[in-house]
Amino acid sequence: MSVTVSIPTPLRSFTGGRDAVPVAGATVGEVLDGLLAAHGGLRRHLVQDDGKLRNFVNLYLNDTDIRQLESTATAVSAGDVLTIVPSIAGGRPATETDLPKLSHAEVLRYSRHLLLPEVGLEGQRKLKAARVLTIGAGGLGSPLTLYLAAAGVGTIGIVDFDAVDLTNLQRQVVHGTSSLGRPKLDSARERLLDLNPNVNVIGHDTRLTSENALEILRDYDIVVDGTDNFPTRYLVNDACVLLGKPNVYGSIFRFEGQASVFYAKEGPCYRCLYSEPPPPGLVPSCAEGGVLGVLPGIIGCLQAMETIKWILGAGDSLVGRLVLFDALKLRFRELKLRKDPNCPICGDHPTIHELIDYQAFCGIGAEPEYAGPEISVEEFQRERAVNGAELVLLDVREPHEWEIAHIEGARLIPLSQLPDRLNELDGHAEIVTQCHHGSRSMKALEILRGAGFGKVRSLAGGIDAWAERVEPGMARY
Ligand SMILES: [Zn+2]
Repeated sequence: MSVTVSIPTPLRSFTGGRDAVPVAGATVGEVLDGLLAAHGGLRRHLVQDDGKLRNFVNLYLNDTDIRQLESTATAVSAGDVLTIVPSIAGGRPATETDLPKLSHAEVLRYSRHLLLPEVGLEGQRKLKAARVLTIGAGGLGSPLTLYLAAAGVGTIGIVDFDAVDLTNLQRQVVHGTSSLGRPKLDSARERLLDLNPNVNVIGHDTRLTSENALEILRDYDIVVDGTDNFPTRYLVNDACVLLGKPNVYGSIFRFEGQASVFYAKEGPCYRCLYSEPPPPGLVPSCAEGGVLGVLPGIIGCLQAMETIKWILGAGDSLVGRLVLFDALKLRFRELKLRKDPNCPICGDHPTIHELIDYQAFCGIGAEPEYAGPEISVEEFQRERAVNGAELVLLDVREPHEWEIAHIEGARLIPLSQLPDRLNELDGHAEIVTQCHHGSRSMKALEILRGAGFGKVRSLAGGIDAWAERVEPGMARY
C-alpha cells in the first residue's frame, strides 16, 4: 500500500522540490526505507550512521508522533500521511550550510546585531531561517511581531480573525488609526513589511480550533501565545506538547503580567502549572477588567526576547521559570516551575493524546449562569416616557464608569455593594438593572429576585446599547 510522505521545506531540494511523495510500505520503517532508497540525499539528514532516526527529526503518522505509537514498527494504511518534522530543539537549525544568506542591505540593516558575538552573522542567519507563529495580533502580539520583524525573523505567522477597533489602539501598537475597521491581519502585515520588507508575514485568518491547530502550528519552529482567553491558551499548550514545540507564554491583567517558556521535552507545560482553568466568569477579561496599555508592551517584549534567544540558542531560557511582573510596584518576581509527573498531557502517564473540546473543558457554552427577563433600550425608553415615575433605573457599574457616562435619572449602586444596600430600594417598584454591556445587570437582577424583588428586568446591551441606539451623543468606552 502507498502512503504520502510530507517533506518539509528545508529537505525539498532532495526530492526534486516536491512537498509530498508517495511511498509504498507496511510500516513506518518500511516507508522510511523506501523514501531513502528513492531519494538518497535525504539519508544524512534523517538517519545516523547506525540507521537510527536522528533525534532532531520527528515523524508524525497523521496527527500522532510515532514515539507515542510503535515507533518505526507502527503499521501504516493506504492514505495515511507521514510527516517529517525536523525539530529545532534549542533553536539550532540543522547545519550552517542550510542557513539562508544575507544580502548586503540585510548585513547593514542588522549591523548592531552582527556586532554582538552572541548573535553574529550565523545568529542573524538563524533568525532569518526561523519560523515563528504568533497567536493573536492584539496587545501582546503587537510588540512581539514588531520586534520579531525588526530583528529579522524570516517567517512570522499570525493567527487572528478580528478587526481593528478604536478601543484596541490604547495598547495594540502594531495597528494605527488609519486601520480602524480593517482586519488586524492586513493592518499588522502592512506595518511589519514597512518595518522590514525582508520578512515573510503569513496570515491565518481564522480562530484557532482543535480542528485546525495541529495543521497550522506544524509548519512553525516556535509558537508564541498572545491569546486572551483560556480555551485558546489550553489549546495552544496541548498542541505544542503534542507537536513537541516550545510555547512562549505571556498573559496580562490590569497591572500584572506573567511570562514563561513551556517546553514539555525539557520542562513543564502550562497544564503542569494550571491543570484546570478557573470557572467561567471568575477571572474577568481585559474587556471587563481593563488593562494598562504599556503592560502588554512589556510582557510582549519579554516574549519577543525569549523567542529570539531560543532561535539563537543564547543565554538561559525561561523554561521551568515563571516571571511575575507587577507594574504598580514595578517589581519582577520569579517562581520555579516543576514538571508535574501527573500532568494529563506531559506527565508520566498522559491521558490526553489528542486535542479536545476546549470550550467545554473551560465550561463555556453551557447554560448561562444567570438568565432573566430583559428589556431592550428602545422598549425602556418608551415605557419610561409613559410611566417614568414608577420605573427605577438601577445602574450597577463602578463610580469611575458612571463618571464616563450615565443615563439621566439612573441610580448608582455598584454590583459589589448591592447585597448590603437592598434596603435603599422599594420592594414594590419596577426596577430595570443596567450596566455596561448587560452581564453585570443580569447578576444584579438575580440578587434582587433572590431577595424577593418581584418586578425586575435587565437592560439588554447595557449603557453601550443605549449610547449606540438611543442617545448617540453619549460617550462610549
Ligand atoms: Zn505538563
